[in-house]
Amino acid sequence: MLCRSRPRTTAPAALLVALSLASGSSPAGAAGAPPVPILAYHHIGSAPAGASNPSLWVRRARFERQLRALDRAGYEAVTLASVWRAWHGGGTLPQHPVVISFDDGYSSQAAIAPVLRAHGWPGVLNLEVARLGVRGGLTRAQVRSLLRDGWELDAHSVTHPDLRTVPAQRLRTEVAGSRQALQQAFGAPVDFFAYPYGRQNARVRAAVRRAGYLAATTTERKFASASADPFALGRVLVGADDSPSSVLRMLRTGG
Ligand SMILES: [Zn+2]
Repeated sequence: MLCRSRPRTTAPAALLVALSLASGSSPAGAAGAPPVPILAYHHIGSAPAGASNPSLWVRRARFERQLRALDRAGYEAVTLASVWRAWHGGGTLPQHPVVISFDDGYSSQAAIAPVLRAHGWPGVLNLEVARLGVRGGLTRAQVRSLLRDGWELDAHSVTHPDLRTVPAQRLRTEVAGSRQALQQAFGAPVDFFAYPYGRQNARVRAAVRRAGYLAATTTERKFASASADPFALGRVLVGADDSPSSVLRMLRTGG
């Protein structure tokens, strides 16, 4: 499922120009911008015995080595907001940008904040509202600390359901409700959404758009591209078995 590919569509150049002019950005700034890799992490640390999905645990020492390898290779971490601004004529990106995102909101993600800080890099936290303050989850104080470090706070629903399967009212609560709850709790913009399990369809994407998000990320293994549907941006999942060199390889080869 993670590797499912989507058919590529092409549009005549004149149409692309018209679309980009309509959105207020230049063709070079949006459709012509190079794709940006978004890495997706979950737990950082050693998987405890009986962990339900040990492949989602990346040991801390390995994570530190991955970041050093990225840094040495010239990558610089940025937020999705920075990518969005650059795509729409409002800023520039480093030569080799990468977004480092963390899903769900585990306490181990606060524990590795100093690792990113040492590189001068922000993380992107995709926070599930119901995980806030529960055992194993981030506390409000930890989230505030991450925000002070320059992290971006994005929504990852309230209770992490497969959004394709929930009725209309619940879909609104999960999508618009999580944005509202996080905005109220932390005073952050919360302009981006990460689909639980990466699962989405046209109805779910429409709900995310209606809730006012600018874009949303899946777990489809591809780079985020300005010319693709902003509500189906791909990400590169990093798992327990990925060495620093395999992460670099994924970034060089487009996922
Ligand atoms: Zn998740």
